[in-house]
Amino acid sequence: MNRGLLIVLSGPSGVGKGTVCAALRRKLPDLTYSVSATTRAPRAGEKDGVNYFFRTREQFQDMIANDALLEYAEYVGNYYGTPREFVEQTLSEGKDIILEIEVQGAVKVREKFPEGIFVFLLPPSLRELKERITGRGTESQATIDHRLSVAVQEMNLLEHYDYAVVNDEIDTACHRVEAILIAEHCKRERF
Ligand code: 5GP
Repeated sequence: MNRGLLIVLSGPSGVGKGTVCAALRRKLPDLTYSVSATTRAPRAGEKDGVNYFFRTREQFQDMIANDALLEYAEYVGNYYGTPREFVEQTLSEGKDIILEIEVQGAVKVREKFPEGIFVFLLPPSLRELKERITGRGTESQATIDHRLSVAVQEMNLLEHYDYAVVNDEIDTACHRVEAILIAEHCKRERF
């Protein structure tokens, strides 16, 4: 059996990775979605084990010490990480899995899975990105400012990715990611 494909969807904060991923989930139910662990507090409506595994800093540090994470990063004062075993198990079952993670984590996944498919989600413009980060309405001004300055630096990492997808409209962005997946499967049919 062929191993599944590892797809990493990354890009600056506020670009809409979460929204695109949620739309992909509806559109491509056969794709497996990795649920990350985080030390950030749940937002309204978020559920443990569904949106994230919400963990204390101590619990998170234990996961690091036990090599339970494929990658992790500290982002705006909180830890975020990808549980390793689930990803490896899914790939060995021949199923495709998608990780929605920020850019530092994506760099680490690239080191471990150079054959992974790395997709960088782009905002239509920086101005639009700023509006999206500000408009979410769930964060303090200090957090918004911090997320914005991080986002501008993150844009510089685009060149390390296999694909760039502009998120001008959710359905179109999803369609582009789906097209990438189809193309990558066709590429592997050659071997
Ligand atoms: P949020 O707090 O808005 O849910 O997520 C903040 C950032 O953390 C987003 O850019 C999101 O993609 C990223 N993120 C979520 N899970 C992970 C993960 O497991 N690893 C890494 N490196 N970043 C993650």
